[in-house]
Amino acid sequence: MRDTLKHKGMRNKLADVVASKGITDKKVLDAIRAVPRHLFLDSGFEAHAYQDKAFPIGADQTISQPYTVAFQTELLNVMPNQKILEIGTGSGYQTAILLHLRAKVYTIERQQELFKKTKLFFEKMNYRPKKLVFGDGYKGLPEHAPFDGIIVTAGAPEVPRALLSQLKIGGKLVIPVGEDVQTMTLYERKSEKEFEKKELGTFRFVPLLEDKN
Ligand code: SAH
Repeated sequence: MRDTLKHKGMRNKLADVVASKGITDKKVLDAIRAVPRHLFLDSGFEAHAYQDKAFPIGADQTISQPYTVAFQTELLNVMPNQKILEIGTGSGYQTAILLHLRAKVYTIERQQELFKKTKLFFEKMNYRPKKLVFGDGYKGLPEHAPFDGIIVTAGAPEVPRALLSQLKIGGKLVIPVGEDVQTMTLYERKSEKEFEKKELGTFRFVPLLEDKN
């Protein structure tokens, strides 16, 4: 698959749709205009890639809806060179949006099949996260902490303590919390022990998988 002017046109329209749903951050909308979402999907979905919808990416997982990606990214308020941890690499689309915002991205995937596929795809596309890790996002990446921001792209039954502890003071955790439906939740670390919590609407994600080992 290639990226053409036709795809660019469809991305501009997608950014308009996302903006009409309430996203105002220009940098985030520019990232939606820039990242070729159709290349993150199997070729069978190419025609649909610029609809504001989630699609299957294998291993029972989905690429998040662009509006959801934009909503979470806007909440993170990413600045260039910030260290951002992403839980749930999946197709790599959210990772690419964060890279477009010039973040240093650390991303974890726990499904081997998706991890391998996305690793090759990143190499082909020359996308360069700082780390692409096969592992359990519940634990975060203590060896690379603290982070300016942490984004969880699967629904968590509860907030993993490890992730809160890996935030810088002033850092933000954006996480959908809940079993069947999730409440988008933003935590901001105010001090060593204090976190401010905000709840920002209802979403539906695939579940964050518990590590049974
Ligand atoms: N950001 C992805 C969304 C993928 S869906 C994208 O834009 O395509 C959520 C992803 O989280 C899936 O790939 C799933 O395998 C992964 N995941 C689920 N539980 C996880 C865990 N405990 N640690 C890391 N990744 C996990």
